[in-house]
Amino acid sequence: MRAGAPAVLTSERARDVDVLIVGGGLQGMSSALHLARRGVRTLLLEADYCGRHASGVNAGGVRTLGRHLAEIPLALAARDEIWHHIQEYVEDRCGFVASGQLQVIESDADQAKAAERVQMLNAAGFWHERLIGREEVRELVPAISPHVQGGIWVERDGYALPFRTVTAFRLAAQRAGADIREGMPVQRIYRRDGLWHAEVRGEVFRARTLVNTAGAWAGEIAAQVGDPVPVQAGGLMLMVTRRVAPFVNPVLGAVGRPLSFKQFDNGTVVIGGGLRCTADPQARVADVDVSTMGASARTVTELFPHLADIAIARAWGGVEAFMPDLIPVIGFSRQGHDVVHAFGFSAHGFEMGPVVGRIVSELVCDGESRLPIAPFAVERFF
Ligand SMILES: Cc1cc2nc3c(=O)[nH]c(=O)nc-3n(C[C@H](O)[C@H](O)[C@H](O)COP(=O)(O)OP(=O)(O)OC[C@H]3O[C@@H](n4cnc5c(N)ncnc54)[C@H](O)[C@@H]3O)c2cc1C
Repeated sequence: MRAGAPAVLTSERARDVDVLIVGGGLQGMSSALHLARRGVRTLLLEADYCGRHASGVNAGGVRTLGRHLAEIPLALAARDEIWHHIQEYVEDRCGFVASGQLQVIESDADQAKAAERVQMLNAAGFWHERLIGREEVRELVPAISPHVQGGIWVERDGYALPFRTVTAFRLAAQRAGADIREGMPVQRIYRRDGLWHAEVRGEVFRARTLVNTAGAWAGEIAAQVGDPVPVQAGGLMLMVTRRVAPFVNPVLGAVGRPLSFKQFDNGTVVIGGGLRCTADPQARVADVDVSTMGASARTVTELFPHLADIAIARAWGGVEAFMPDLIPVIGFSRQGHDVVHAFGFSAHGFEMGPVVGRIVSELVCDGESRLPIAPFAVERFF
């Protein structure tokens, strides 16, 4: 909320804005920041509190490594133009650490897969992922199991603190003039007299342009504006261990199995890597499934046998939006340029969030994005 503004604005005038954003995760917050910095009167409505869902509870991986080819230009722009300058960008470091990310190669089959991936990227003009051998892996992670024979290494990747990041973007957006309100679930969207109307418990907000950043619930908004897309809510889990002596600096994944883990400065280790669980979008929760978590914990102890007796301190789940092709929807509605969608990040939207908001602001203000977003068009589902 703008400093000094009342909790509920009552006059019709006060409720009219240029752009109304539905959803206060990182995509919504970044959109609000970039739009407000371009002088656009922006209102963001969040059903719960900002960062309550995927954006605030994720693993914080700032990862360009292993991305779908279509996402790479966005992921590189987010990392090199924003994450590495995050302090200047939002006046907070967001806990960003440029630790590098490493995917380990554990077999000849992994080796062949990794070589094919890097070749494919090089042929497409991307050189950020680099194949490294046994010795270099050991220099990066001396404690790793001897069976690891190499890896794919991305030096400029890293990690950040998710909730702190959403909060930093929120505060920066508010400083730039965006009006951000929590506890405001948008229940109905409709168009009348050339304006979008959003109803929240009988109160109506109006805007020329609507931005849909409603995460796992974005399908409800998309359907109301005439784009019924197959976005599914799914659960993702993470667990965090008790503190152990420092043993790994980069974020680690594996070429041949689902895994992602990192050790924080305080010694705790966060373990995840696309661990799926059930989500209940009505109740707005994801349930932790301990049996699936066991498999990931075992992968970690196979890579670092000295962790065999490490204890898990806490586990949690978050609700994420998945598209059938696992890449997001970013772009105008099929119905016209007065609706912009940015949702369906399918377990890897945190890293791209800072640049997605910039893209949203370009679509609203300039009518086009400087980065290539054609593969993310909503039309692909129709
Ligand atoms: C456990 C976990 C680990 C992850 N790890 C990583 C990682 O390491 N790296 C990475 O890049 N990505 C990761 N991700 C994915 C990443 O967190 C998401 O892709 C990203 O945060 C999506 O951002 P969002 O703003 O679209 O969605 P959200 O953060 O879910 O925000 C959407 C918001 O919209 C609000 N909303 C919905 N409907 C309405 C309505 N009708 N009215 C008002 N508000 C509404 C919701 O309350 C919610 O706050 C992970 C996700 C999870 C769950």
